[in-house]
Amino acid sequence: MTRSFIIFGLFFFISCQNNQNCQNQGKTSVDSSSTECPATSPGGSEVPAPTPSPTPNPKPIENPTSAEVPPEAALFTANLQYTNFEADDIAKVQKAVEIIKKVVASQEFKDRVIGFTYNGQKTFVDNGGLTNVQIYQKLIDGAETLTPEVDNEMDLELELYYSSRNTVGYTYPNQPRIYMNTKYFYSYNPVQVAGNIYHEWIHKLGFDHASSYSVSRDSSVPYGVGYLLEELGKNY
Ligand SMILES: [Zn+2]
Repeated sequence: MTRSFIIFGLFFFISCQNNQNCQNQGKTSVDSSSTECPATSPGGSEVPAPTPSPTPNPKPIENPTSAEVPPEAALFTANLQYTNFEADDIAKVQKAVEIIKKVVASQEFKDRVIGFTYNGQKTFVDNGGLTNVQIYQKLIDGAETLTPEVDNEMDLELELYYSSRNTVGYTYPNQPRIYMNTKYFYSYNPVQVAGNIYHEWIHKLGFDHASSYSVSRDSSVPYGVGYLLEELGKNY
């Protein structure tokens, strides 16, 4: 229960990265231009969620119905930059990356993403107008909004900081950097870190979700796939 709460909390802060209207809610500003969200409980925020613009995928889908995992999935990797990380912290993230790579390369991951259902339909909530097959392809392509080349790679910058407040972290809408509060990061195991980083990265692909908790939000692309990544990551 506590773990779920913490994950929700972290995911909540992530939710604001694409939300220009995210409220700071009385934070002590680290940088007045930052977008920060506290680690509130599900439903603890009344921040309205903007509807993201549909992100058409101009890339042709190759063999979208193929039963096999595409070879690019096995090559999927991460390009991470670290600020304020000690060796142990980097080791934890590297374990998380290895978990992400194994999950993304797996048949089950492909099947579960493509077979994802919401309200009896094979679809994600806030899917940007994309089918599950197209979403899976985007996850494999690794073409972030900020670095749009198809490189089968997660491109992210991670920066650790400490705050005693219930802020798991914050980010800027137009930066690949995630600011992560060590108050939470230190307590996470690598599988949790994997789920959190992957959720965050999915935002960088252009997917968003409601800021406050709802059942449907769990079926958004960042939450739905992030939870799936963590669930399957426990196998590795
Ligand atoms: Zn999020």
